Amino acid sequence: MNTLLDQLRAQADEFIGLRRDIHRHPELAFDEHRTSALVAAKLEGWGYAVERGLGGTGVVGRLARGDGKRRLGLRADMDALPIDEATGLGYASSHAGVMHACGHDGHTAMLLAAAHHLAERGRFSGTLNLIFQPAEEGGGGALRMMEDGLFDKYPCDAIFAMHNMPGLPQGRLALREGPAMASSDYATVTLAGIGGHGAMPHLTADPIVAAASIVMALQTVVSRNIDPLQMAVVTVGAVHAGKANNVIPQSAVLEISVRALDREVRSRLEERIKALVAAQAESFGVKAQIDWRPGYAVLVNTPEETAFAREVALELVGAERVTLQAPAVPGSEDFAFMLERVPGSYLLIGNGEGESHGACMVHNPGYDFNDDNVAIGSAYWVLLAERFLSAGA
Ligand SMILES: [Zn+2]
Ligand SMILES: [Zn+2]
Repeated sequence: MNTLLDQLRAQADEFIGLRRDIHRHPELAFDEHRTSALVAAKLEGWGYAVERGLGGTGVVGRLARGDGKRRLGLRADMDALPIDEATGLGYASSHAGVMHACGHDGHTAMLLAAAHHLAERGRFSGTLNLIFQPAEEGGGGALRMMEDGLFDKYPCDAIFAMHNMPGLPQGRLALREGPAMASSDYATVTLAGIGGHGAMPHLTADPIVAAASIVMALQTVVSRNIDPLQMAVVTVGAVHAGKANNVIPQSAVLEISVRALDREVRSRLEERIKALVAAQAESFGVKAQIDWRPGYAVLVNTPEETAFAREVALELVGAERVTLQAPAVPGSEDFAFMLERVPGSYLLIGNGEGESHGACMVHNPGYDFNDDNVAIGSAYWVLLAERFLSAGA
């Protein structure tokens, strides 16, 4: 496999340059106009049939070759985050308050580097669908592309995506069968009480006391209602109430984040939180209203496609640089929605560990994508595409 890696190393400088150009011009969710135009122009230049504007700023490049019937989807994300970059790098963000702090610049560059190689010298028979999605960071760009007919227009037999991971050695490939990333839901609880004088609490219905009790009661959901072997998180991240020490306010608001790695646990959390909030509120004589907003789904990697993705990783970098069954990650990822429609797998590529440049965690103002991954990440995509769309399949 060294020859393939060597070939992608030989063209890596061009794509590292592209990565740094995207890094310098980061764009927030659904605002990836420059980035998607750049992606579309490159793909067109290499002979892909390109559709722009899918799901807002999403791009799909299709390349069909030979008479193979299989259809493969590879997905990269393009959006940046509302963070002030503090890396001091020569190619640091030129947009104040916006930064590629999750490495989506690198994911885009890796998939483009693979796209270039596959168009120039790829040996495959079948259909390659390269999906560049907007708004992975909370905006649900994957879902928007699907609502715009992504898999109706570009049917895929399997789909794969890759994310960099600081703390893992650079270039190490980590896979996982089954649930790999958490669902994330949001709830806003509004408690309506009766305000009044702080010296005469018996004439009020105090929403602050109710809110405090609810915060504590919520701590029992994970500890008492969920199987201890299952992962679950209930975090009250914000409490808003009151203005003065001698005034009992009319209302209080709680902002809650809820995560799970299992669909049943996820619905159990919702059921218990709603029941606890309602019963607690009633016991304090206040009215509770819950606005429940479902976020990203649990990301589940299918067995057959994960086994295939592992074989490709082993062939490319060898057993000592592959984690066959990595631990799950409590973060969320909207590729989960694509995996609800199409079988596939999501893998991680190490960004660097210890004191190295790539070890800084994503979403930190000091983070940077590790450019040494451009060659290895793109080689992985090329090999996976050639194996999946092997002639005669
Ligand atoms: Zn992120
Ligand atoms: Zn990310």
